[in-house]
Amino acid sequence: MQRLQAFQFELRPNGQQKREMHRFAGACRFVFNKALALQKANHEAGGKFIGYVAMAKQLTDWRNGPETPWLKEAPVHPLQHALKDLDRAYQHFFAQRAAFPQFKKKSGKQSFRYPDAKQFKLDEANGRVFLPKLGWMRLRLSRPLLGTPKNATVSYRAGKWYVSIQTERKVEALIPQATSAIGIDVGITRFATFSDGDFLAPLNSFKHHQIRLARYQRRMARKVKFSSNWNKEKAKVQKIHTRIANCRKDFLHKATTAISQNHALVCIEDLQVGNISKSAQGSREQPGKNVKAKSGLNCSNLDQGWSEFRRQLEYKLQWSGGMLVAVLPQNTSCTCPACAHVSKDNRRTQAQFLCVACGYQNHADVVGAMNVLERGLRLLACGEDVSRAKVARPKRAASVKQEPTEATSTSTMLVTGAVGIPCF
Ligand SMILES: [Zn+2]
Repeated sequence: MQRLQAFQFELRPNGQQKREMHRFAGACRFVFNKALALQKANHEAGGKFIGYVAMAKQLTDWRNGPETPWLKEAPVHPLQHALKDLDRAYQHFFAQRAAFPQFKKKSGKQSFRYPDAKQFKLDEANGRVFLPKLGWMRLRLSRPLLGTPKNATVSYRAGKWYVSIQTERKVEALIPQATSAIGIDVGITRFATFSDGDFLAPLNSFKHHQIRLARYQRRMARKVKFSSNWNKEKAKVQKIHTRIANCRKDFLHKATTAISQNHALVCIEDLQVGNISKSAQGSREQPGKNVKAKSGLNCSNLDQGWSEFRRQLEYKLQWSGGMLVAVLPQNTSCTCPACAHVSKDNRRTQAQFLCVACGYQNHADVVGAMNVLERGLRLLACGEDVSRAKVARPKRAASVKQEPTEATSTSTMLVTGAVGIPCF
């Protein structure tokens, strides 16, 4: 099995290298925007789409021309890669997968990529990396690099520079060490509840950051926009944002690693965060209560990072030889696990589940997780179409919802695909 994995390390550039990297990232942005403007003008004049090769020739002219001689100081491969990015953005747009490409802002993400392993050298023994036109640079080698390097992306985040090296290596297909199956129900009061009754508390250090964040945001608002004092405050705000994101990342990685190591089969609800946010208003059959209170929750809904949770579970389970099954979420919280009676009245409060037919009692989130597990097992056995509950669009659910994100490799698609296809 081919495994693609990226390893990110913090760079320790000197002042000169820092300035150069900002300039290189700016040059890539400039090339991207210039090419996009050219495409737009060309289209308006009635011309055809300019392909990558023709555009790369333009780049050579820009580098050698009198108008932008400073482009020559930036390494050529990252500039070419910016054109490839634009080309790909157009291809996604033509295939109706994405909106029309937009100009990149100076305040946006700063990064550039060396697309070939020939262009950089990693000296692990001395903890340094060689990057074209930047020379040798120290880096924090926090872990050994596994596999053959394919490309390197340099990026800037809240005052620090990072290099992410993508590698490729062959690994044996694993047989999972664990043999158990588990269902997971995600929520707000409990980040994740497991079908065996266990649960993960949500990350509550966030609130502390929120107060600090608001304070710095107020300070920033009092400054004159784009002044240097404003920029200083902005850097502080960004630093807090990065810290919050890092806390969440750490929490999610620890949770997903533990789950994927302890279980061979994991069933989750096929949630779409957009749908959860929508559900505050309710539907025609079930108008929402406490719409206002719930809309406040939407903020924390989006903040929990459930889609990232699922993405990590997907690839980590694949690495450990396990399997992730996503089931349709309809009625998981109001179906009785003992007698399969479906009623909204089963769930008295947020936490309490009491079956009106047989009197079965449990925590509502645990019931949800048990139902998810049961549906997942049924889906695997393929004895029953679990989508029958009241869904009129099982096909869409199988093909659209189970599509893996672009970053996961094709073998994940096979895993989820093999689960979804034979049943529908
Ligand atoms: Zn019951």
